Amino acid sequence: MVVTKPAETIESINPATKQSLGRAPLMGESEVNAAVEIAWKTFEHWQLTSYNKRAKLVLKFRQLIANKADELASLISEEVGKPLPEAYLSELCGPLDTCVWLAENCERLLADQPMPLANPLLSSKQSIIAFEPLGVVGIISPWNYPFAIPTMTALMAIMVGNTVLIKPSEKSPLIGIKIGELFLEAGFPPGVVQILTGDGSTGKILSRTNLSKLIFTGSVEGGSALMAQASARLTPVTLELGGKDAAIVLPDAPIDWTARGLVWGAFTNAGQACASVERVYIVKGKNTDKLIDSIVSMTSKLKLGPATDAMTDVGPLIDQSQLDHVVRQVDEAVLGEAKCLTGGHARTDLGGFFFEPTVITGVNQQMKIMREETFGPVMPILVVDSEDQAVELANDSEYGLTATVWAGKLNRAECVARDLNVGTVLINDCLFSHATPQLPWGGIKKSGFGKGHSIFGLQDLCNIKHISIDAAGGAHRVWWYPYSKSKIKMAQGGIQLLHGKLTKRTAGLVNFVGNMFTDAPKQVAQIKKSDEPAEKTDNQD
Ligand code: NAD
Repeated sequence: MVVTKPAETIESINPATKQSLGRAPLMGESEVNAAVEIAWKTFEHWQLTSYNKRAKLVLKFRQLIANKADELASLISEEVGKPLPEAYLSELCGPLDTCVWLAENCERLLADQPMPLANPLLSSKQSIIAFEPLGVVGIISPWNYPFAIPTMTALMAIMVGNTVLIKPSEKSPLIGIKIGELFLEAGFPPGVVQILTGDGSTGKILSRTNLSKLIFTGSVEGGSALMAQASARLTPVTLELGGKDAAIVLPDAPIDWTARGLVWGAFTNAGQACASVERVYIVKGKNTDKLIDSIVSMTSKLKLGPATDAMTDVGPLIDQSQLDHVVRQVDEAVLGEAKCLTGGHARTDLGGFFFEPTVITGVNQQMKIMREETFGPVMPILVVDSEDQAVELANDSEYGLTATVWAGKLNRAECVARDLNVGTVLINDCLFSHATPQLPWGGIKKSGFGKGHSIFGLQDLCNIKHISIDAAGGAHRVWWYPYSKSKIKMAQGGIQLLHGKLTKRTAGLVNFVGNMFTDAPKQVAQIKKSDEPAEKTDNQD
């Protein structure tokens, strides 16, 4: 296949300065199709590599990330605006831990599993569950965690034996390209991980190609479009979508800890995290006012600015449209009699797409700021009368990604956690679990479906194959032909024998055994399972 160089490009913009950082190819039909073909060719031999070899490469990749941590953190900060501590901690730690976890555990977690069978009629059979790679996996990712999200998913997919195609966000193409370079430098064969830069149109083309699975992380609108696109080929999809994550604060929550946790959860990454604290329900108690004062005081001290300033706590939003969206939601809430206790305004004077860290009270559940994803540095607070009311309001959402509960009595907090309709509940902390490869990640309702990370994420990247082995000399196959009246009696007897009331079991036994061999063939094959290693048999005409 002849691959032409894409004529068009996309521009990467530093959101703190609005300056161009460079351009990347806008890949189209020809580049995407060529990459898919390469991925399938590479899969032919990559799937046959041992876990040991893959683990060695994954650990080299880990070393490279650690060696280049400063360079990577600066690029991440520049391209999406996050303060450097966040670039190191929330972008690099997850992939690093994933490398170690996979190298140490993947082979064990995906080892063949024997599956004992309960029915005595199946006693001659051995069942094995094998976890095999699927093939080529497409990973379409967003800009808000541009390194951690695609890298963690790609590591898991390739460790299982798949090859992957990553379509990074058009807002973070340079980080996407860097991810591809790192995999090559670590020694992964070309074609195991390929990067397809471009915008939604590139993702659309990719989603219509011959893939074994698509893992999409992004907006609800994008996920919904993707599912429709993938449906023509029945490509299975995992969707990791938006959230409107609630924090419930119980009256005995420690004030300082809770305030610090909520402030970080709402403003880290400038609020642009799928699992940000997007709305807070405080159950009224004697400490409510003190808690709100503490939140406001901490928020007003946060430093808004570019990542180049080491003292910056909160960076810019990603672009003008995101800034406009946040301004609209806050303005609408204020018009509806909500009150900004601190913040509330865009800061165009800072040169980029900045919005002040904002705490709002006087909101109600019907406001957009309490119902729609804000994805900005805004913490709306609603004080409620009871724990039940807090749970009801938290569950009153189209989304179901994560929630947090803040409390002194942990058993009470756990009861609340069990009542929340989400994929993850964190008690007395927030957000951290995405970076932890052992823990499952994924939401319900409009937050998506399918699990990433963890043993469940690994299994999701496998063809879970059942192999049944039968020596053919064991029990007579009572369900095989021929059918007859005695076969019906045998079936009736068998059901009563195994599952009927005690009083019917003896009659069942008589009917079953008495009719079992009536139509049985005279001879049964005698095939033994050999201990010799299997040799491949070719078809013989
Ligand atoms: P987005 O939906 O605009 O884009 C995500 C990716 O999909 C990009 O690479 C984009 O180019 C591509 N894309 C867009 N339309 C497509 C289409 N029709 N077909 C194929 N690909 C298409 O989302 P975004 O603005 O990049 O990310 C922000 C959203 O992602 C927020 O809603 C956030 O909550 C969500 N998010 C969710 C998680 C999670 O784990 N649940 C994590 C991070 C972000």
